[in-house]
Amino acid sequence: MKYKFASRVDRCEPSATLEVSAAARRLRAAGQQIIDWSAGEPDFGTPDIICDAAIQAIRGGQTRYTAVGGTPELCAAIAHKFQRDNQLHFEQNQILVCAGAKQALYNCFQAMVGPGDNVVMPAPCWASYPDMVRLTAGEPILIPTTQEQHFRPSAEQLDQAITPETRIVLLNSPSNPCGAMLRREDLESYAEVLRGHPHVMLVSDDIYELIRFDGKPFHNMAQLAPDLRSRIILINGVSKAYAMTGWRIGYAAGPAEIIDAMHTIQSQSTSNPSSIAQAAACAALLEDQSSVPDMVVAFEQRRNYIVKALDDLPGISCVRPDGAFYCFPKVDGAMEQLGCATDIDFAHLLLETQRLTVVPGTPFGSPGHVRVSFATDMPTLEEGIERLVGLLD
Ligand code: PMP
Ligand code: GLU
Repeated sequence: MKYKFASRVDRCEPSATLEVSAAARRLRAAGQQIIDWSAGEPDFGTPDIICDAAIQAIRGGQTRYTAVGGTPELCAAIAHKFQRDNQLHFEQNQILVCAGAKQALYNCFQAMVGPGDNVVMPAPCWASYPDMVRLTAGEPILIPTTQEQHFRPSAEQLDQAITPETRIVLLNSPSNPCGAMLRREDLESYAEVLRGHPHVMLVSDDIYELIRFDGKPFHNMAQLAPDLRSRIILINGVSKAYAMTGWRIGYAAGPAEIIDAMHTIQSQSTSNPSSIAQAAACAALLEDQSSVPDMVVAFEQRRNYIVKALDDLPGISCVRPDGAFYCFPKVDGAMEQLGCATDIDFAHLLLETQRLTVVPGTPFGSPGHVRVSFATDMPTLEEGIERLVGLLD
């Protein structure tokens, strides 16, 4: 049977990050000794206090549909988080709870972007952004950045990328895939650019907010440019900071009219996120926060090891990420040495010959790099480095 698909299917590729992780899982299940450097999630379990809240929710009968945009308790917990961590005030009608930050972003693009519109984002960027934009029939516009500029675009680059068709500028700091964090000065200069383009909204994906190294402070545009608040949508979630990727709770906060449009889309697609996961997310945001710094200390130690070890290898150079749990080494020298035409070939070669998984840079908009996740234990990082040394020396 030859099936006829809607044209939107041709506009987007399967998620590269999820595909590589699935390949690693498949090979491991087949008994292979895989070293997995592809994971886009903490390797820690969800803290007990959060799991207990979920069990209590089940036992207490919180097993029915909730309000589409989240329980009043979780919306209040999210408002509390914004006040506590970011000194930002949101009313409940300015918050939408979704099945992950991914759905929050998806709803946002569906609500704000259409055919002929574009969304501007620095590259490298999370591999799902461009395809989510293409699903709206809009166009992603990538601003290329380099290792030398620590993957932080200049205000001039941002200004030049914006056109009358631009609906949204999308920022992600700390960043997936490179861990770069925008400085206060960067954001202030971007705010000035946005003031010159009043038709443009800003979406700030802050999902890695709490995973930062070297004591660097976190800033987002809503904190630094209160005059732009009516044009800013914040995206966040519990997946990364609380090791809750499987629970699927994320959220958006912004102008009530935009949240309302996103709510309509959610009400006609997935309805509310899991009632049980929402109860767990309440505990994550409100209860003891000490699991977060414990995890961050472990990520920072691993970062210190892996960045130096990669940078010492011939044909590979790597800058220190400020946050998240990824680094994004430039591997063009190693690719040349091994006769790989693309980073996709290079990632394949690592998998085939070394049983080592990394995500190629091309789906993140930055060929010649690969993404290495250090959300894995030290022995796995050390073994991967040994395999690379064997290949490159
Ligand atoms: N934004 C970025 C930059 C991410 O890396 C992820 C990870 N998948 C998400 C959003 C979505 O996270 P989730 O849907 O698990 O909340
Ligand atoms: N954000 C993670 C990653 O980049 C999880 C997988 C995904 O949804 O892309 O690997």
